[in-house]
Amino acid sequence: MTVTEKSTEQLRREWVIHPHFKYRGCAPDADDPMRMAGDPSLHVGAHNGPDAFLPEGQVERRLREDAAIEVCLNCPVMVQCDAYASSVRPDGRLAEPEGVWGGRRALERHKALIRARHAVPAASDRRFRTAQKQAVLRALASCWDPFEVADAAGVDVRTANWQRSSLVRLLGLPKDVSRMRALAVARERGLLDGVEVVPDDGSVPAIPPPTRLPAGPQQLHMWGVEEFPTVVEVQPRAGRGVRSPSMKVKFRCVDGQEDLVLVEATGVADVCEMFPAEIALEAAA
Ligand code: SF4
Repeated sequence: MTVTEKSTEQLRREWVIHPHFKYRGCAPDADDPMRMAGDPSLHVGAHNGPDAFLPEGQVERRLREDAAIEVCLNCPVMVQCDAYASSVRPDGRLAEPEGVWGGRRALERHKALIRARHAVPAASDRRFRTAQKQAVLRALASCWDPFEVADAAGVDVRTANWQRSSLVRLLGLPKDVSRMRALAVARERGLLDGVEVVPDDGSVPAIPPPTRLPAGPQQLHMWGVEEFPTVVEVQPRAGRGVRSPSMKVKFRCVDGQEDLVLVEATGVADVCEMFPAEIALEAAA
């Protein structure tokens, strides 16, 4: 992938306004527009292959692409062409996802894009430098209980856990990495300069398992939830399809799966009485 701050459109423009653009290898031959200027033995569309409805075997494709690459290697605008074709659009796709461009096959350019996406960002990357992420990292250095980390970082538990997960991903570590390993990598990257790490026994995961919040109405109030005009009740039911009575929305259902029915409740106490705490909390969320 092209490492540049320029947009795809800018790069395309630089390519097409290049003074040598008209001499590009894949341009139509002056004597026979169906042939390629860089190699008249090739069809002018050799870089992109036959029509999508025509079959092409692996061997034929390989040979065709090799010949097209050979043309690219002698092309005066290969660098500009590659910069444009391998740039990334705002939707995350390659500017030219198909065919040979700038001397590279589509597969090669896609692999480069994936490699670039998985590249571990430098510590100076602004994704590491958000105040919340740094607060969570520092908190994680001093403790590891999800509630303690959240408290020390000044965020709620869900946010702290999400940031822990995000840090592990940015550091290029596996999801099940230990806290000590993650902190060691963070220190190597200069993210924990001057921060003391309180060691654990090495078995504490950097990303905690899903945290169960304490049950009870107090917790609901903590979330600022006062009223529940409508909540979702979960009932075990065996059946083929499930339909909410008020919304004609079908949910895919298998035997033993649970049924969703809308019921009325007047307040926190009703909700907590009717359902297990975690269901009420989930419904409230
Ligand atoms: S590098 Fe290849 S695809 Fe790009 S303009 Fe030149 S010949 Fe055409």
